[in-house]
Amino acid sequence: MNDTIAAIATPYGQGGIGIIKISGPLSLSIASTIFRKSNQRNSIFESHRFYFGNVFNPGTNQILDDALLVYMKSPNSYTKEDVIEIQVHSGTFILKNILELVISMGARIAEAGEFTKRAFLNGRIDLTQAEAVIDIINANSSAALNCAMSQLKGEFKVLIKTIKEKLFIILTLINAAIDFPEIEEDLPDITNTQKILESDIIFSLNQLIIQHERFYHLKDGFVVVIIGIPNVGKSSLLNSIVNKDRAIISEIPGTTRDFIEESLNICGIPVIITDTAGLCKTNNSVEAIGIKKSYEYLDKADLVLFVTDASICFTKEEIDLCKHLQGKDVFLVLNKFDLVKEPFLVNIPDNLISLHTLKTSALHNQGIGALIKSIEEHIKYRYDFEIKNPIIPNLRHKLILEKCVNNLFSAIECIKNKEPFEVISIDIKETIELFDEILGIKVNNDTLAAIFDRFCIGK
Ligand code: GDP
Repeated sequence: MNDTIAAIATPYGQGGIGIIKISGPLSLSIASTIFRKSNQRNSIFESHRFYFGNVFNPGTNQILDDALLVYMKSPNSYTKEDVIEIQVHSGTFILKNILELVISMGARIAEAGEFTKRAFLNGRIDLTQAEAVIDIINANSSAALNCAMSQLKGEFKVLIKTIKEKLFIILTLINAAIDFPEIEEDLPDITNTQKILESDIIFSLNQLIIQHERFYHLKDGFVVVIIGIPNVGKSSLLNSIVNKDRAIISEIPGTTRDFIEESLNICGIPVIITDTAGLCKTNNSVEAIGIKKSYEYLDKADLVLFVTDASICFTKEEIDLCKHLQGKDVFLVLNKFDLVKEPFLVNIPDNLISLHTLKTSALHNQGIGALIKSIEEHIKYRYDFEIKNPIIPNLRHKLILEKCVNNLFSAIECIKNKEPFEVISIDIKETIELFDEILGIKVNNDTLAAIFDRFCIGK
């Protein structure tokens, strides 16, 4: 990380203040070249002090804007590198101009999340804390914010480190027993080791997994997936729910081939609603890819809105679709109800009759409020909001924690089967390495890319 990065750190567009952030070894020299303090001739900047002045183009001497500048000397900055932040008036043109000037002085445009990535790589925060930064940015309820803040403060990290240390002590004793088998009294008490693994370590890990399962919606969002055969009004329904024309509506079946996601905040929970490609038999290869993806989305759904056209009978394709809904929470949405001539005579198939059923007209915006209310009630009924412990592992952590539990059960099996210490130590060592993956001590580039790609530019 010898290069210097720069980005506009504030949202794009017009506003009161726009901030350009620079991090890396050239930060200070760039600042000295393009910023002139008012009332002072020198260009010496003390760390953590604000300076008023202007940003100017040293080539033409043209003043670009009045500005406030702050210098944060390494290592006392977010990235642990020399950091400069320049506050100017926020306008797309002015910010772009200044950024281009900074780039012409030798910095390069930062990638999404690169400032936080540097904070992580330079050891200012661990990976769980870096992940908390994105959770704070995305938080849209006070509960979600509290959880993210707890993770940023390092509460999850400390817990993982504590568990890791306990395992490390066990591993050290086992290794000593392997290296010095002749010293009888130093042999680890294997019954006690088994007890610690079961009632302390595995117990704590399972508690964390349960925390994820109960509360992950607060962080990751509650996933609602709209499915149905083509042309029943799925895209229209999404638009009505989110109250804007996001999905393309067309009379031509098969218009939604990519996936449109919208976020809503329902009772403080982020709800992600996805419109999927209409499920039907097709010879069109592009549509077929969309349909395959629809089934993948269906798997991930916390709630499915199965949309049908109320003005016509259930088709064979719709009845076939029912087998993909087993074990899922499903609402049956009878859309196009404006076209129904009373009395409503459509026969709902037996396996759908017990579903919570709603009548809507996406075209005329009818029944949409009741649908949103039903989603809200379902979330409240299904999920717990009494968060006593703010430590909530995310999906990445949870998957690793599950591997840890499996490994430790395998170690216990080895203990029970009186396997040699060498064999027991393998599972324990692997579990310690898995903890390092959570903390980011040992982590592959793909995982890092997946985490930091979720950030915005300038963070
Ligand atoms: P999708 O293929 O299931 O996503 O369906 P679209 O949302 O693209 O809608 C297909 C057609 O049905 C369009 O012409 C819509 O205007 C129409 N449509 C959607 N919802 C309704 C409704 O509630 N009532 C009526 N009469 N037409 C609707």
